[in-house]
Order: sequence, then C-alpha cells, then structure tokens
Amino acid sequence: MNHRKHKQSENLKSKRMYTPEGYLKDPPDAKCPYCGESGKGCSYINSLSRAWIRGACKHKYRNKKEDE
Ligand SMILES: [Zn+2]
Repeated sequence: MNHRKHKQSENLKSKRMYTPEGYLKDPPDAKCPYCGESGKGCSYINSLSRAWIRGACKHKYRNKKEDE
C-alpha cells in the first residue's frame, strides 16, 4: 500500500502565520495571551504542535478565570 498521501490535518481554526523555520522565528515580544509567558511552546503559534500547546493553555486558563 502507498502511504505517501499527505494528510489534510492542517485545518487550524486560527490564522496561520508561521514559517517552516519554526521556533527560530519567534518575535522577541511574542507571548502567550493566556499565561503571559514568552519563549514557551504556547508563546507563539508557528506549528501544529505549538497550536496544540496554545490550545491546551487556553483551556487551562479559561477554566481558571472564567469571568473574562
Ligand atoms: Zn500559555
């Protein structure tokens, strides 16, 4: 069987503005809007895995302060 088909799993809900270089392209002022951290996986979305991390962070902080 041929498994070389590309998966169409890149359907992110948010805008995609990342580059293939990944982490190297993090702007110095990039930070996560949820935890406020910079230089972390959730600080800047430029890959699917980081989008996932951001999503997890969002979920975590939304549960923490629901009054926003
Ligand atoms: Zn975060």
